[in-house]
Amino acid sequence: MLKPGATIGILGGGQLARMLALAAARLGLRCHVYSPEKNSCAFDVVHAGTCAAYEDEMSLGRFAGAVDVITYEFENVPAKTAAFLAKRRPVMPDPQVLETTQDRLIEKNFVSALKIATAPYAPVHSASQLADAVKVVGLPAVLKTRQLGYDGKGQAKIAKGGDAVAAWRSVHNAPCILEGFIDFEREVSVVAARGRDGKVECFEITENEHRDHILKVSRLPAKVPPALANQARQIATRIAKAFDYVGVLAVEMFVMRKGQRRVLLVNEIAPRVHNSGHWTIDGATVSQFEQHIRAVAGWPLGKPVRLGRRVEMVNLIGEEVNDAARWLTVPGTSVHIYGKGEARPHRKMGHVTRVWTR
Ligand code: AMP
Repeated sequence: MLKPGATIGILGGGQLARMLALAAARLGLRCHVYSPEKNSCAFDVVHAGTCAAYEDEMSLGRFAGAVDVITYEFENVPAKTAAFLAKRRPVMPDPQVLETTQDRLIEKNFVSALKIATAPYAPVHSASQLADAVKVVGLPAVLKTRQLGYDGKGQAKIAKGGDAVAAWRSVHNAPCILEGFIDFEREVSVVAARGRDGKVECFEITENEHRDHILKVSRLPAKVPPALANQARQIATRIAKAFDYVGVLAVEMFVMRKGQRRVLLVNEIAPRVHNSGHWTIDGATVSQFEQHIRAVAGWPLGKPVRLGRRVEMVNLIGEEVNDAARWLTVPGTSVHIYGKGEARPHRKMGHVTRVWTR
């Protein structure tokens, strides 16, 4: 168990690292952020920062020497970097989790092996495999690159009767998976924390609305029957246990109607704190960021309870952040601005959380 005053190393310096560091500070723990980008917004709020490449072993070695444990704010930490650090300090969650979640095919196979449902999928590594995949999965479908895709990047939809080869060309013939297009009723996610002692605490299921493939609004309570919400929490718990996970993870799911029934299909696992859990800072008794810090520090997890009858988190994307002041005087509303500098289109610049107590 880390003592107050101990230092947690974080790989990555974006808003997730920033909010992790703020939560750590409240518990008397320090953070040291390692990021290759000099304008990283997490540098503003941490005890120490290292700006160096993930391949720079001299800097990585010094970083490891200066911290007690290491975690990360994003899943695309190079495997070699994580392995190098894991020889020197405990890295949580285990870098093996990265190998699974960095690759959509390995991730889907992992989820399927747990007998958890996903959209139908098939690998695409060649033109002939593409034709086979279309036969297996059917159309409409979504072609997704196996690696380095997020917020809809590296994805191409293929309509019924559409041109699969053109879609594959649009992602530069990269290794892909073809996924059946799901006509979902809604998108939901469960953020779960697992402590070093193996105890799991799930946050309440959250309903998510995307715009241009980017999360725009998260709402609670989600409009799903209690039994389905329970199932969603069980899915997240099983995934966390199967990874022997330490820290916070998020599982994104589709709710699909099958006749009278509703079923859950896992879309993606994020081995980190997640945008759909930002509401927990102001809308729950313990935030996802604090849970993650507690988990990697070996502290007991909190029992998260929603505050308020209804909670809504809205992302401020691009120039919307310039309009944030109008939220400052709205009762029950909290404004978070990440201090990221230029408000480029599609860039997550901040968020607003509204908690309705009555
Ligand atoms: P992803 O990068 O896989 O999280 O996808 C981003 C968003 O694209 C999701 O949140 C969905 O809104 C949409 N999407 C992804 N995969 C599918 C699918 N198989 N069927 C329907 N919509 C999808």
